[in-house]
Amino acid sequence: MESSNYRDIFLKHQAQTTQFPLQLDLVKAEGVYLYDRFGKSYLDMISGISVSSLGHGNEKVKEAIKKQVDEHMHMMVYGEYVLSKPALLAQSLVELLPQHLNCVYFVNSGAEATEGALKLAKRVTGRTKIVACKQAYHGSTHAAMSLNSETYYTQAYRPLLPDIYFADHDVLDSVEVIDNQTACFVVEVVASEKGYIPLSSAFLKAARKKCTDNGALLIIDEIQTGMGRTGKMFAFEHSGVEPDILLLGKALGAGMPIGAFISSYQNMQVFTDNPILGHITTFGGHPVIAAAALAGINELKSNSWINDVHVKEHLIRKLLTHPAIKSIQGPGLMLSLEFDSFDYNKKLIDYCIEDGLITDWFLFSTNRLRLAPPLIITEKEIEQACEIILNNIKKITRN
Ligand code: PLP
Repeated sequence: MESSNYRDIFLKHQAQTTQFPLQLDLVKAEGVYLYDRFGKSYLDMISGISVSSLGHGNEKVKEAIKKQVDEHMHMMVYGEYVLSKPALLAQSLVELLPQHLNCVYFVNSGAEATEGALKLAKRVTGRTKIVACKQAYHGSTHAAMSLNSETYYTQAYRPLLPDIYFADHDVLDSVEVIDNQTACFVVEVVASEKGYIPLSSAFLKAARKKCTDNGALLIIDEIQTGMGRTGKMFAFEHSGVEPDILLLGKALGAGMPIGAFISSYQNMQVFTDNPILGHITTFGGHPVIAAAALAGINELKSNSWINDVHVKEHLIRKLLTHPAIKSIQGPGLMLSLEFDSFDYNKKLIDYCIEDGLITDWFLFSTNRLRLAPPLIITEKEIEQACEIILNNIKKITRN
């Protein structure tokens, strides 16, 4: 079938989310490169939005998937059968985490992890008030969307969850909104769609204290920061502030769809009683996906990619200097370049894609360009990427 046929089908029969999809016609991916039907290569500087941390086509992950497919695929809805891969994956995650985060609930996406965690917090505390940060992103389902402070995105879907309150990103006093009526405070250590803006340790510590003092649960969303992107396996490790519930997704599946919320065994018990089946999912913990995720974690543990994140970050920061770049934000390999306007940024993104480099902007920060390459990216590939970006900045600035 010719490329144009796929494009027609894509546009006609696959639901669209914008009127201007990128429409790259991709057929293959390897390492940090994607390839289109015509053999053109694209340096993937966004990892499918922080997913492909191991790069594309990791051999160990592919092997694990094939082996599991040969053994068995889906057998039963989540939580009934004892299956080796989800069990080993849960154990492997728990071993990486503080002692109280010892029980994992597998779901199918980041938004579902948010959903499950909100339900868990309501059950554990018996409260309904939920606090999130302004311009945070926790997913697009109804409950996850309720935590989105931007009415442009939410207005058309009201009514959403009631009893939602917002704290200002990194404004210490605003944690006062967490009180003894609060079930949970949901927070990203790095505000992913605000432009990879990190939260200060001081804010996280103040939020932790407020939650503890008031019996509210602290939910840390590491769906985008998790699995090494900030130079530690989990971003909360930088501040030492530990959540009561941790959310994971994206890179956890090593290229396969997964989400997880992790808390204490005691907290998770609430789903088993009054009512039973407090949270259920058919495919959560799917054995093939769990096998991929397990292989992915083993790869992260046995290579130096996470340790190398800061060296690579510094190289990007050193190479990308130009007056048009107003600031570089973000920790590790989740960085944003700030420009004067969306128009400038959009032009730069389009030129980069033409030149075989994929990047994009942020939901709440359209004048920032996203850099979240696979953690396996080499220094040479970083140099190539920075050269493409700088050349195009110069081209736009000249015109
Ligand atoms: N939380 C964060 C921080 C995210 O970046 C995302 C997705 O971009 C989500 C939650 C939702 O994840 P998903 O798209 O898998 O539902």
